[in-house]
Amino acid sequence: AADAAMYHAKTMGKNNVQFHSAELNQIVHAYLMLEANLGRAIRERELVLDYQPKVDLRSGRVVGAEALVRWRHPVEGTIPPDRFIPVAEETGLIVPLGEWVIEETCVALKSMAAHGLDDFVIAVNLSARQLRQRQFPERLGQTLRRYGVDPRRLELEVTESQLMDQPDEARDALAQLKALGVRLSIDDFGTGYSSLSHLQTFPVDYIKIDRSFLGDVGHDGHMVITRAIIALGHNLKLQVIAEGVETREQLAFLRAHDCDQMQGYYFSPALSRDALQDLLARDTRLPD
Ligand code: C2E
Ligand code: MG
Ligand code: MG
Ligand code: MG
Repeated sequence: AADAAMYHAKTMGKNNVQFHSAELNQIVHAYLMLEANLGRAIRERELVLDYQPKVDLRSGRVVGAEALVRWRHPVEGTIPPDRFIPVAEETGLIVPLGEWVIEETCVALKSMAAHGLDDFVIAVNLSARQLRQRQFPERLGQTLRRYGVDPRRLELEVTESQLMDQPDEARDALAQLKALGVRLSIDDFGTGYSSLSHLQTFPVDYIKIDRSFLGDVGHDGHMVITRAIIALGHNLKLQVIAEGVETREQLAFLRAHDCDQMQGYYFSPALSRDALQDLLARDTRLPD
């Protein structure tokens, strides 16, 4: 990685970059590569969206999916979002990247509607930086109309910690988005220290329990938190989604405590659009 970072630094004429550690090398490498290559990556279609199914816990049916971006780099191989989203957020490249994610999702929603899947919902992850753009709600409305996508088919996920960064501004932006008719979720809930009074005033539809709370059932106090979050969500008239469900025991616990939806490797990882459509065509259900 150090050699590669040096190589990238040199080819971009940044011989003066100082490297202090392997970790820093990696970070610098990611920055330089991303800044130089993201525009190209979008144009050359190196970015792809995979879709992780979301399952209704009562019917066992797939009701939607979360779009998760991946970078299929020609030299580096597939780069997971944790390695380039933070860089994109720092540099502001998250704005064009996020626009691409929304357009690509509109294309997928249109294709699904054409296959008779007209109540399927796709969630995209939104960065606070996108939310802070004044023009964002208006532009989103235009995009949805341009693609002919019903706003109720699109869900926007924002993490609790990003919302709590500037809660009053976030609330205003969420209200404008809600007025378009899209669905809103608070992602990674439980890790962001929101006060209950704030939570009550965010016009959202879902909270997603962070996967760190779905520990070992029976061996972990975390399940107490999971249970409390489900009850809190329901008291606020919100639906609750559990993410990162990996075991049968976690699933049984969530069902016993009336959680609404699940996502996780126990049912399926994120899939290509074709693989998702196959799964839907076979009407695959969550086992009892
Ligand atoms: P997230 O929104 O909380 O997404 C859930 C992450 O958990 C995904 O990782 C997913 O693949 C992973 N996951 C799902 N089920 C399981 C499971 O059963 N066990 C475990 N251990 N992990 C599971 P991924 O795809 O690497 O995404 C990581 C994060 O990157 C996302 O967290 C999200 O914050 C961010 N991200 C991904 N795509 C986008 C995007 O288009 N825009 C923005 N702004 N952020 C994105
Ligand atoms: Mg998410
Ligand atoms: Mg999450
Ligand atoms: Mg996350």
